Amino acid sequence: MTPQRLMILDAVCEGGGHTTAEEIYRRVRAKSPRINRATVYRTLDFLHEQRLVTAADLGGGRLVYEIAGETPHHHLVCRNCGEIEVLANEVVQRMYEAINQRYAFKVDEDHLVMFGLCEGCQGED
Ligand SMILES: [Zn+2]
Ligand SMILES: [Zn+2]
Repeated sequence: MTPQRLMILDAVCEGGGHTTAEEIYRRVRAKSPRINRATVYRTLDFLHEQRLVTAADLGGGRLVYEIAGETPHHHLVCRNCGEIEVLANEVVQRMYEAINQRYAFKVDEDHLVMFGLCEGCQGED
């Protein structure tokens, strides 16, 4: 882990949640003004490959990064109002087990994003 990578990892961490690459770039640049955008984006890809950060498309082209926690977590995203809820890992693990039993396929996605309608939006047309 190079100091530059560590600095970018810290910038993801500071978000305390979902952060866009652009926000991360701005944070890093505040500390290290000479860094360029391509380096930050490339490093985010690398950190994602290493599973140190998660990357998720929350719809509408909003790709967000987040520090990978000790236990995986997942999200339910409302298509209508954009509300994001945390989906418990145990629920997802049960689904993964069912998939594994039926298809002998081991899902290793540690940041699942599922779209639908939240309770408040279900009644609307
Ligand atoms: Zn997340
Ligand atoms: Zn909603």
